[in-house]
Amino acid sequence: MNAKIIRKELQITGLIQGVGFRPFIFNLAQDLKLKGWISNTDTGVSIEIEGLPDAITGFLDRLQQFPPVHSYIESLTIIEHEYYGYVNFELLSSATQGRKSLFILPDIAMCAECKKDIDDPTNRRYQYAFTSCSQCGPRYSIINALPYDRVRTTMQDFPMCANCQHEYDDPTDRRFHAQTIACADCGPSVQLTNKSGQIIESDVAAIKQAAEALKQGAIIAIKGIGGFQLLVDANFKTSVARLREKKYRPEKPFALMCKDMPQVRSIATPSAQEAQMLQSVAAPIVLLNKKRAGFMLAENIAPNNARIGIMLACSPLHHLLLSYLSAPVVATSGNISNEPICIDNQQALEQLGQIADVFLIHNRSILRPIDDSVVQAVQGSEMLIRAARGYAPIVIKLPKFKAKLLALGGHLKNTFALASEGYALISQHNGDLESLATVQGFKQNITDLSTLVQHQTDLLIQDQHSDYASSQYGDELSQTPCVTVQHHHAHLLSCVAEHGVTEPLLAVVWDGAGLGEDGSLWGGEFFSLENKKITRIASLREFSLPGGSVAIKEPRRTALGLLWKFMGDSLFAQTDLAAIQTFSKHEQKLLNQVLKKQLNTPRCSSIGRLFDCVASLLDLCQISTYEGQAASRLEQCINGCQLSDSYPLLWHEQNDVIRLDWQPLLENIMQDLAEGTEKSVIACKFHNTLVESIVDRVHGSGLKTVVLSGGSFQNSYLTEAIIKRLTAINVKVFWQQKVPCNDGGLALGQLLAVIQQQEFKTCV
Ligand code: ZN
Ligand code: ZN
Ligand code: FE
Repeated sequence: MNAKIIRKELQITGLIQGVGFRPFIFNLAQDLKLKGWISNTDTGVSIEIEGLPDAITGFLDRLQQFPPVHSYIESLTIIEHEYYGYVNFELLSSATQGRKSLFILPDIAMCAECKKDIDDPTNRRYQYAFTSCSQCGPRYSIINALPYDRVRTTMQDFPMCANCQHEYDDPTDRRFHAQTIACADCGPSVQLTNKSGQIIESDVAAIKQAAEALKQGAIIAIKGIGGFQLLVDANFKTSVARLREKKYRPEKPFALMCKDMPQVRSIATPSAQEAQMLQSVAAPIVLLNKKRAGFMLAENIAPNNARIGIMLACSPLHHLLLSYLSAPVVATSGNISNEPICIDNQQALEQLGQIADVFLIHNRSILRPIDDSVVQAVQGSEMLIRAARGYAPIVIKLPKFKAKLLALGGHLKNTFALASEGYALISQHNGDLESLATVQGFKQNITDLSTLVQHQTDLLIQDQHSDYASSQYGDELSQTPCVTVQHHHAHLLSCVAEHGVTEPLLAVVWDGAGLGEDGSLWGGEFFSLENKKITRIASLREFSLPGGSVAIKEPRRTALGLLWKFMGDSLFAQTDLAAIQTFSKHEQKLLNQVLKKQLNTPRCSSIGRLFDCVASLLDLCQISTYEGQAASRLEQCINGCQLSDSYPLLWHEQNDVIRLDWQPLLENIMQDLAEGTEKSVIACKFHNTLVESIVDRVHGSGLKTVVLSGGSFQNSYLTEAIIKRLTAINVKVFWQQKVPCNDGGLALGQLLAVIQQQEFKTCV
């Protein structure tokens, strides 16, 4: 026995399964002549290494300094052991007992090496649509249990051929122990079918034929990574129009998928940061500025919009399809309006048969629907707007706590979150819980993720709004104790949780609307957080929304609700007002009655609705066809205007809450309009006024830390202007980046509310 030989055991947790971690360790051990073994465990990996002390030190250094690219080591525990006498280094099969890890790798877009293989006529994977390696390929969408191994993914249906097995076993191959590898001989295959599911073509011919169909103007349904997508050739206005009609989507911008960066640059002007986001392993839809000099594609892709969402081909199948096309494709979720995206071939044929002309399908099963993610660059960093493919499930570290929690999130852009052992696991985007099918999908996704990580909920958390479908589901699960958290408190705490911000702080929570503690609709709120207590210190002056939820869809109604407060009956004499012009005389009469008697006119203090009002005054949007349309029009109306002017601010105090009065603001805007001031100037001054309102509250509160949350901060002009302004006066600003600032972030905040014993109420 050699006395100098030592043995150590390493327990590692983090994002380490599905990133080529075991092969990496194997090669490292070979390199340093260390013996022992590595195995995936339920919570990460277990390693034993035996060898000379210097080699072991070298091993630990390299492991910590140069781990595999997509991995993330959360914890490393080292246990000393007696000499054992291993004769080689082995990759052991996974040990599966005990508790499960919360770390699940998201799907990873095709890597550059695999792309080379696919494009190389001499490679055995030439034009093979399911090429992957240890660094890329589907993960979350195909995992049915942990730990991550081929047998616990939908790749178990495809036993490896001798060639693939050889690569899998060869430590020098980049497919060494890669769980998703396959080739044309053994792996999944593509087919093109008609609406009745009859096969038209197979393999590469199917992809070429699909490209031909697109060139003829067809709508195709393609089975992607996390579900079906609907595609049309971006050159064809009539195809885009047909897709809009069939998806009941009159104006909401569509995203594009491009084959490469030069194609992206022919449409938009990505910054270096944005180019990086496009080419990241998540390959999300990135919101970009369109090129100023003419949009050469079908104009109805993103009508009246200076921005466009673009993603790069995220899988080999998409890459191959685009290689046969000269134009980018419009790519939208493969679902019927308001329903979850289809993941199954048969389901797609049934549901999308009314929309798509042909179906490009394959036989690798998708286990859970995961939409395309959406991001934008704000102040030089990525801001996640919709967290799905490539991001979900998101892990956020939380303060230590014992119970296992399930936060049900909100109603729109729903995500839910599980929490245990000091971490939050946030689900993929579940959509707006407005249809039975989406609500069922939401419940299914909760069961699915809970099963995957073996989570048994001790306590449920839901929004205070009992009409939310998520809250109603909480009520259904009556055997589990449940608490509610106020909507804007959850937004606030979501940002605090994401960044681990320490109090005291001032929180600005601006969104469309959420139920406030006084029964009115909040959404223009300022809070302080001190000694774990959230206090509402300021808000927008209240106004009424004529028609309630109808007003939320019709900025013109909100505008009348605000103006009526100070103009009264005389409002309806203002015939030059764009909002008035859109109503018939009869409707005007009715509205006047509604406002006078305050019938079905909920009280509201939402910034989102103030945006609607101003967008209506500027006649940018009177009726919205999608959420956030008016606000986005108003932001884009700034159109490069660089004015720093703002309108004067007026504050009142009312029952301990300081109110920002919108009346002088609206009067000034109307005067500017009457004087013929450019709309871009008015839009810019309006945004700047909101920025200054925050500066006022910072000064008023004396607080030096500000957190921003709520859907209004998806407005990048607004958010960047606030960050710049506050940073200049030495105030620290936090805004949401890894978790959406919209209602997709609520679940995380709901968790923190309970963990920090903050503001929550027991369900009655
Ligand atoms: Zn690869
Ligand atoms: Zn094979
Ligand atoms: Fe909200």
